[in-house]
Amino acid sequence: MRTAIVSAMHEELAAVLALMPDESRQPVAGREFWVGHLHGREVVAVLSRIGKVAAATTATVLAERFNVGEVVFTGVAGGLGAGVQVGDVVVADRFLQHDLDASPIFPRYEVPLYGTGEFRTDAALTTRLAAAAARALPAARLHRGLVVSGDRFVSTTPECRALQAALPQALAVEMEGAAVAQVCHDYGIPFAAVRTISDRADDAAPGDFARFVREVASRHSAAIVEALLA
Ligand code: SAH
Repeated sequence: MRTAIVSAMHEELAAVLALMPDESRQPVAGREFWVGHLHGREVVAVLSRIGKVAAATTATVLAERFNVGEVVFTGVAGGLGAGVQVGDVVVADRFLQHDLDASPIFPRYEVPLYGTGEFRTDAALTTRLAAAAARALPAARLHRGLVVSGDRFVSTTPECRALQAALPQALAVEMEGAAVAQVCHDYGIPFAAVRTISDRADDAAPGDFARFVREVASRHSAAIVEALLA
């Protein structure tokens, strides 16, 4: 069974590719899919690209062309939940699009014709991923719960407060996970996602984000992926 490792950023993909001895590049839809092995397991590694549509295209190609049996997303996110701090690790047990609103025709956040706005990650794969994160980063605080996605880098304190008020259960905000979760739901492919908190989605977010990605994110992602597949 082939595992897809989807990274949000170049630095993270590079760290995953460094663990693959034999990757070969397969271009599809303007993306580079890297097929090979990691700890002897069949994997395909790819950059999701940023935002929900780009991530959905990447996930669809993985399902249609690469015969993946499971999809694991690694990336960074802004912390929303009380106590979700920079450097913490969030494993998603479900996703929602915080910028989807077809009300009053459908309830706010509901994806039309799905009857829900929340897409659950695969319970078994999510448990494996959380255990891998705990093994790889024993000093990091680990959270598990709702992660919300939207096509916005949330980087002002008022917008962050509004999200916290509207979605009090949300632990973190990012820009891809809910899209990949919906595509994996459509194809019946188990999906799990882990995000290291790079910023608090507030006025300090842009500076925190850049520093964090450079210094921490890529090491975190590779360590978690390695622990997952070991
Ligand atoms: N200038 C950056 C843009 C990154 S956008 C670059 O060159 O790569 C932010 C990325 O990190 C997205 O992939 C998103 O999923 C995640 N992310 C981190 N913090 C976020 C926040 N506060 N709001 C939304 N997405 C965030």
